[in-house]
Amino acid sequence: MKILVTGKGGREHALITALSESPQKHELYSYPGSDAIATLATRVDLAGLPELIQWMKDHAIDLCVAGEEAWLVKDRGLANLCAEANIPCWGPYKESAQLEASKIFAKRFLQRHSIPTADFTVATTAAEAKAALNQFPIVLKFDGLAAGKGVAVCPDRAEAEAFIDDVLEKRVFGAGDLLIEQCLSGPEISIFVSVCDDQYQILMPARDYKRIGDNDQGPNTGGMGAVASRQLATPELMTQIENEMVKVTVQGLQKDGLKYRGFLYFGIMLTPTGPQMLEFNCRFGDPEAEAVMPMVRGDFANYVFEAAKGSLKPELIQFAEGWSICLISASAGYPVSSRNGDVISGLESVEGARVYHCGTRKNAAGQFETNGGRVLAIVAQGTTRQEARDKAYAESRKVTFDGLQRRTDIATMHFD
Ligand code: ATP
Repeated sequence: MKILVTGKGGREHALITALSESPQKHELYSYPGSDAIATLATRVDLAGLPELIQWMKDHAIDLCVAGEEAWLVKDRGLANLCAEANIPCWGPYKESAQLEASKIFAKRFLQRHSIPTADFTVATTAAEAKAALNQFPIVLKFDGLAAGKGVAVCPDRAEAEAFIDDVLEKRVFGAGDLLIEQCLSGPEISIFVSVCDDQYQILMPARDYKRIGDNDQGPNTGGMGAVASRQLATPELMTQIENEMVKVTVQGLQKDGLKYRGFLYFGIMLTPTGPQMLEFNCRFGDPEAEAVMPMVRGDFANYVFEAAKGSLKPELIQFAEGWSICLISASAGYPVSSRNGDVISGLESVEGARVYHCGTRKNAAGQFETNGGRVLAIVAQGTTRQEARDKAYAESRKVTFDGLQRRTDIATMHFD
């Protein structure tokens, strides 16, 4: 089978590795891919989405797997264009991907289908938004793409009003409304689900660590680490999440005529009154994919292929027991900036862990160097959380580059 994966980061490196480890050998392609991914999947260099669709047609690609979210909502949508070209695609249609692309769309979906989520209102002007500030802390969310900076948890009126002015007066993120949301509290958990029309399979729970610094200090990042294990949630909690959130979402997509075949991420806060939905992502999370993918056993390639064609076959994959822990090494200056060109040493000495490349490139001398904010994901498994953690840290320490930043408390914070 010929499989093309869209994307270039650690998540795609992990997905492509899992596809390459399926029992049969497949021809793998990546668009745009990276130097590291190129060892497993041939890179395809094209100008954009229409060219990609044509290329896949010309090369008789059997399956397209959506890694990065951006393509799902670009132009007429990756999945929509694949459908027109008769190429099975694992990733939702553009209309359904609004669940991630628009926070207001997602909140209205949750409300319409009675899925537990924080109360909210929508404001289009600063005056309207300021008049709606009735309690503190309060959560404000810009309804559009804002590179992770569009959400503010505001402790008081002064901060809330400043954020409102930024978004609705100064338009720092461009055009878009503002969501004003009740502030919830509690630990967060990510649940990954394969959704195929009216069928679904809950994969594995994970938790990510968003802040740059230990103890969740400092600014938000794309994610500085993740932990995955069935043991992150009790069977009772998983049943509650399945009944109150997953099942209802899948039924809601059907009722609303939103076609969905792909991974769906449920970002959930476990509040004292029960689980509440924070957000959807229409693909696997990054770095959660790097933590979850090494736990997959069985025939991942055929699993995705069958599901993309409309038949979910849970029996094709299994998940390892135990724990998987992913540590991100980030470059100097991240997340405010990032520094490229720092040579990475020690990669060849990693033995007990997997290394996925998030932002690297090969220099003229053939050495990997930094090429982005998040550079490497180093992932280890263990029967216990401690074992996985010890291994992940021991292996991570073998890899260095100038300016490296790595959290020291992944998988301890929120547990100990
Ligand atoms: P991501 O970077 O995961 O895509 P995002 O920018 O799409 O995030 P959300 O996931 O909606 O935005 O919110 C980001 C973070 O803000 C959440 O992980 C959570 O910690 C916090 N948050 C969001 N909504 C609330 C809420 N109602 N109450 C308290 N905290 C919240």
